[in-house]
Amino acid sequence: MEDIQEFSDVKFQGIKINYLYVCKRKLWLFSKNITFENTSDKVLLGKVLHEYSYPKESTKEVLIDNLIMIDILSDGSIREVKYSSKMKEADIMQVVYYLYYLKQKGIQKQGIINYPKEKRKEVLELTPEYEEKVKQALKEIEEITTKPFPPPAQKQRICKSCAYFEFCWG
Ligand code: SF4
Repeated sequence: MEDIQEFSDVKFQGIKINYLYVCKRKLWLFSKNITFENTSDKVLLGKVLHEYSYPKESTKEVLIDNLIMIDILSDGSIREVKYSSKMKEADIMQVVYYLYYLKQKGIQKQGIINYPKEKRKEVLELTPEYEEKVKQALKEIEEITTKPFPPPAQKQRICKSCAYFEFCWG
């Protein structure tokens, strides 16, 4: 019960978990609703790819608690579609977070990450290790996003395709 209470106190969207593993500065900027139009952003590309890759598949897009939008597949699994597997750990943690969130609501699911461009998928179960990692991640997100200033920019490979590129390096 304690976990449920703690969890509802810190209602983070899955994308924040993803950004925690991609770039902490990106997480901070996103959490302050600082956004820029940038069609090269991989999150947007993933969404577009999703629509083109599975046009006929029977899925149900569900918004849970106004927080997370997930695809429920016909076999009951939940799914995320990603542009590439370069940020695999971030993708895994995002889906594992959804599984954790659903578990707090008494719903047990399997998670699937599809990488249609690479024609492969990752199947995930919520293990005790992942649960622990999610709890740690939620704490870290709270610490980062309640700071008055963002972490300093650090050049990394993904910067060139990040929506905040101009903001950080322009
Ligand atoms: S441009 Fe690079 S440093 Fe800046 S938010 Fe994006 S990933 Fe982080």
